[in-house]
Amino acid sequence: PFDVLIVGGGPAGAAAAVYAARKGVRTGVASERFGGQVMDTLGIENFVSVKETEGPKFALALEEHVRHYDVDIMNLQRARALAPVDGGIRVELESGAALKARTVIVTTGARWKNVNVPGEQEYRNKGVAYCPHCDGPLFKGKRVAVIGGGNSGVEAAIDLAGIVGHVTLIEFDTQLRADAVLQRKLASLPNVTTLLNAQTTEILGDGQRVSGLTWRDRASGETSRVDLEGVFVQIGLVPNTEWLKGTLELSRHGEIIVDAKGQTSLPGVFAAGDATTVPFKQIIIAAGDGAKAALGAFEHLVRA
Ligand code: FAD
Repeated sequence: PFDVLIVGGGPAGAAAAVYAARKGVRTGVASERFGGQVMDTLGIENFVSVKETEGPKFALALEEHVRHYDVDIMNLQRARALAPVDGGIRVELESGAALKARTVIVTTGARWKNVNVPGEQEYRNKGVAYCPHCDGPLFKGKRVAVIGGGNSGVEAAIDLAGIVGHVTLIEFDTQLRADAVLQRKLASLPNVTTLLNAQTTEILGDGQRVSGLTWRDRASGETSRVDLEGVFVQIGLVPNTEWLKGTLELSRHGEIIVDAKGQTSLPGVFAAGDATTVPFKQIIIAAGDGAKAALGAFEHLVRA
C-alpha cells in the first residue's frame, strides 16, 4: 500500500506529491489527466517567479518535478469511490482496479460551466475566458461581456470594470442574484451596462478572435448584437467531487470541507485545491494548498 496516495494531477496534486515524496514515504498519484485545468490554459502570468509561461509548458514542468522523485504516477486513471478499510483507505478506479493507502489526498479540481452557445468552444482562449483574475489584464481598455449575474459574475464585472473599457453584464433572470452590496457597487460604476432577462444566443468572431455576441430579450423576443473583444463566462465552477457524495462531507456547492491542514471529515483523507472549500481558485493557491495537505498527511502518518 501507499503511505500517501494522491487522486488528481493538477497543481495541487503535483505539489502534494513533491512534498510527500521528499518525506521519504511511499507516494502515488492517480489522475485522469496529469496537469489538470492548466492543460486548457493559454498564458499564465500570475505564478510568482514565473513571469510568463504557457499552460501545457507549465503542466510539463509540474510532471518533470514530480518525476524527479520516486513517485508512482498512474495516468489516465479515474477514481470512482473511496472508503475506509482496515489500516487505511481504499480507492476504487473506473478500470475496476483498487489502490490501498494509509492516507489519501483528493485534488480532483473543478470545471467551469459552459453556456453552450455557438462560438463558445471555437473562441475559447481567443476572447472567451472563464477566469477574470487570470485573463482580465489581457483585455485592458477593451470591451467585454460577463455572462452570469450571481456573485461571481457581478464580482467579475466590478473587477473587470477597473481594467477594461466597458463591461456588459448579461443575466438570464429578471434580476441579479448577487448580494445587495455587490449590486450597489456595480450600479455605481459608469462603464457597466446590465442586461436583465437576457439570453446569450451566440458568441461571434472573425474566425480568429471574438468580435461580439448576440442576445435575445426574453420579454420581447427581440435579438440584439453587442460588439466587443472578450466574453467572460461566470455561471458557475463545479467541483469534481460527485464521486465522493456520501463519503466525505461536502459544502452545498459540492466542495470538500477541509480544515486548516487539509483534513476532511474522514480521518486520513485530506484534500486540496479547487475541489475544496479553500477560497479563490488559482494555480498558486492550489499548489500551496497541496503542499499543506501533504504535510497534514505526513503528520497523520507520524502520529498513527
Ligand atoms: P485541477 O487543475 O482541476 O486538476 C484536477 C486533477 O484531477 C486533474 O489531473 C484531473 O484529471 C484529475 N481528476 C478529476 N477527477 C478525477 C477523478 N475522479 N479521478 C482521478 N483524477 C481526477 N489560474 C491561475 O492561477 N492563473 C491562470 O492564468 C489561470 N488560467 C486559467 C485558465 C483556464 C481556461 C482555466 C479553466 C483555469 C485557469 N486558472 C488559472 C485556474 C487554475 O487552472 C486552477 O485553479 C488550478 O488548476 C486548480 O488546481 P487543482 O490541482 O486544484 O485542480
